[in-house]
Amino acid sequence: MTTPNTTCLYPQLAPSTAYDKGCRCARCIEGRRIVVDKFKEKNPDYYKIYHKEWYAKNVKQKLASSIQYYKNNAEKIKIYREGNAEKIKTQKKLYRKNNAEKLKVYEAMYYQENTERLRLKRRTPVRVIRAAMNRAKCRMLRMGKHLVPPLNPDEQARLYKFYETRYYLSESTGVMHHVDHIVPGSKGGLHHPDNLQILTASENCKKKDKIL
Ligand SMILES: [Zn+2]
Repeated sequence: MTTPNTTCLYPQLAPSTAYDKGCRCARCIEGRRIVVDKFKEKNPDYYKIYHKEWYAKNVKQKLASSIQYYKNNAEKIKIYREGNAEKIKTQKKLYRKNNAEKLKVYEAMYYQENTERLRLKRRTPVRVIRAAMNRAKCRMLRMGKHLVPPLNPDEQARLYKFYETRYYLSESTGVMHHVDHIVPGSKGGLHHPDNLQILTASENCKKKDKIL
């Protein structure tokens, strides 16, 4: 940031020249602005390209200074956002529309760089439990559609309870537990709560396709 001085350091020089020499008085700042504006008008692409190159070289610093600015002005920004919610919404919409292609690339990049973090965020207990339940169901469906009978809501809830219990039992004891089909699918056992039990992984491996 430049701090303006109150009196001109080089009143005998043209404002733009004085600005180049380091004067930051009101006259020279304004004079410089006019010169820059004229230049921009004649060379509309210059700053676009210049900024792009500069930004590419300084992405990290720029980001850090932006974050710092947000931190320093959090209250001001919050008030502005609250007072201009509609305007901001429209601007965002327009921006997204005009930059759809670019944003697609950015989002893909962001996803690639944050895959692991996003994956962990998705791994809430309910999602993990549902995923395990789905995998089991698919496994049984592959063995035969008739092995997966339609369930009423009560049976559905009991089925979920098995997978939920398995999850929290494994988490709390540190010993991997499995939901086991008492009569295995290969022997015609159904994917139904009446045919389920919870075993430790090692018990389940010993059991294999036997009926215990
Ligand atoms: Zn000056």
